[in-house]
Amino acid sequence: MRYFGKDTWIYLDGEFVKAEQATIDLFGQSLHYGYAALDGIRAYNTHNGTRLFKAEQHYDRLRRSCELVGISFPWNTSQLVDRTYALLEKNNLRSAYIRPLVVTGHNMYLMPAEDAHLAISAWEWGPFLGTELIRLTLSPYQRPNPQSLPPAAKIAGQYVASIVATNEASQRGFDEALLLDSEGYVAQASSNNLFIEKDGVLYTPGTGHIFPGITRQTVLEIAAAFGIEVVEKKITPAELREADTAFLTGTATGIAGVASVDDVRYPAEWTDTLSATIQRAYKNLTLEKENYEVII
Ligand code: PMP
Repeated sequence: MRYFGKDTWIYLDGEFVKAEQATIDLFGQSLHYGYAALDGIRAYNTHNGTRLFKAEQHYDRLRRSCELVGISFPWNTSQLVDRTYALLEKNNLRSAYIRPLVVTGHNMYLMPAEDAHLAISAWEWGPFLGTELIRLTLSPYQRPNPQSLPPAAKIAGQYVASIVATNEASQRGFDEALLLDSEGYVAQASSNNLFIEKDGVLYTPGTGHIFPGITRQTVLEIAAAFGIEVVEKKITPAELREADTAFLTGTATGIAGVASVDDVRYPAEWTDTLSATIQRAYKNLTLEKENYEVII
């Protein structure tokens, strides 16, 4: 995957600079300790032009992530949304993934550095990943304990655990790792939230141990608009295995149907499920199509 070339611009500390010329502080606290906050936003090439999906919510979440761990965030959400559109235009991107990253300055002590720097980069991202159903495995790794770091904070250092779990799942031949929480309930995938469907009802783990994704919230809104019942509850590994089908949600992924968990293959035909209806509606919502049920 190529993230930038010689003509790529990034937005750094209030200015547009060439990605190749941007430098990183080797003595920065973020590099040494993972003390940085990030987010991920999608831009879709809609019939109304290039549109960021829920950009304000993503920048508000970035601010909140910083607040939760003591990183200063002196930026204004609507200005950042505006700058992000300008960045897309400068890079001639229509369908993109946008990565805002807040890093702190040099400080080798375990106290917040005084300065914070914001970089926004963007790269081409196709409208949706393939429609292939994914194969999950229950990971031997757990979600981080919510008492060690606030689960709603998207902090760089936490992703070491996600990388380790994804790598372990991949080495065993699976597409994605599904992690239990510290109480033994099913929490989420390494960077996606989980829904299961059983007898016409959707279930998803409640907040507490999970990262409360914006896509997950959007699914709750779509389900409410469609009159589909969703129950937020603790999900046991047995309930996961006995579901009719399941799906993962995330900004980069969108909504991805699940084929199987370890050796259990879900019995429902994906296209016949309520989950597939939600998947279609999500696509139509992000692409600003009027008719929710149009299949793209
Ligand atoms: N969980 C984790 C750990 C994530 O990093 C993400 C992606 N930000 C998600 C869930 C999904 O969140 P969202 O729908 O806001 O992208």
